[in-house]
Formats: sequence, structure tokens, C-alpha cells
Amino acid sequence: MSHCLLCEQSIATSPTFSGLLGIDHKKDICEDCSKSFQRADIIDEDPLFERITSIYTYNEAMREYLHQYKFLQDVALAGVFSNELRAVLKGKATVVPVPMHPEKKIDRTFSHVDELLKRAGIPFVHLLEKNGTEAMGEKSKEERLAMRPLFAIKPDAAVGPGPYILIDDIFTTGTTLRHAATVLKEAGATQIEAVTLIRAEPSH
Ligand SMILES: [Zn+2]
Repeated sequence: MSHCLLCEQSIATSPTFSGLLGIDHKKDICEDCSKSFQRADIIDEDPLFERITSIYTYNEAMREYLHQYKFLQDVALAGVFSNELRAVLKGKATVVPVPMHPEKKIDRTFSHVDELLKRAGIPFVHLLEKNGTEAMGEKSKEERLAMRPLFAIKPDAAVGPGPYILIDDIFTTGTTLRHAATVLKEAGATQIEAVTLIRAEPSH
């Protein structure tokens, strides 16, 4: 008997054919919690991307999940969406995680997007890194904001035409993804799509 990682209620495990074959994925969360996540299945067109796909909406259940996963750093939760991620990320494209935002590094000690991919068994490569801000020390705050390049290609990374899939946890305005795609395109990528686990409405 296992327990739901979110609400702790016990998960009944009934033997199935695939389970007998040992290919059944152990359930991390219960049926009730599974149902509380709401699929968005948004596929956007965008000038920079072949398409942008977002799997879930940002509802109350997802807000709580992210809190427990990212901020309380419950790494066991990385596997909750493995099947859904595998379904969207199947194919031959190179999966490229968007690096964590610099100011978020302080309160997070693990890379949550990397963990989601690892747990799902999805190979990925880090082509991007956060840009350092050291060289901009003499600029005014306004100048830094205006020119702020969020990402750079990693020194040892080889960027080809693609296809690439940029992956991030949450899409709010799309600014982060567009920064990342622009850097990849400048380095020679021609075919880029994006996948995010969640689509949030920008707050007004
Ligand atoms: Zn549950």
C-alpha cells in the first residue's frame, strides 16, 4: 500500500496486466488529486516558435503542488507529471531546459525542471546558462534593465539548426521563453518549439 504524496491518503493498488509485467508506473498521487489538476492543452502559434504547448492550467491544486515541490523542495513530487511530459516531449527534438531565473536561485537549491525530466526518463541538454551581471556593475539600473540579456549559450555547447524543445515549468507572459529562443536562434537554431507544464494568466 502506498500513500498519495499530496494528500497522504492510501492508494489502492490493484494488480493489472502491465503491473504483472513490471512496466506499470507506480502511482505517486491518488485519483482525487490527479483529478484536481486541470488540463489546459494550449497550443499557441508564435513568431519565434514552431509552437508553444502548455499542459495544465494554474489552478489551486497546481499552486499547492508548486509550493510543495519548489519551495518546500519535496523532490519526490518530481514524478507526478512524468507520463504527461513524456507524451508531449516524445520525438527526436533535443530537449533544452530554460535555466532558472537568477533571483530565484537563492531560495531554490535544486533545479526543478531538470528533476521533472530526470524522473520522466527524458534526456535533455543544457545549452543555455544564465548571464552573469558582474560586467554590468558600472551601468545604471536603467541601463542594466534595458540591455539585460537573461541567457547566453554555454561556452562548450554546440548549437545546430535543431529541432529543439525549450522546456520551462510555467508560462506567464512568455518573456523568459522568448529570451531563450532568441539566444538559440542567434546561435544558429532554426527550429524551436516550447513546452511548459503550466500556463498561468498574467496577473493584472
Ligand atoms: Zn491525494
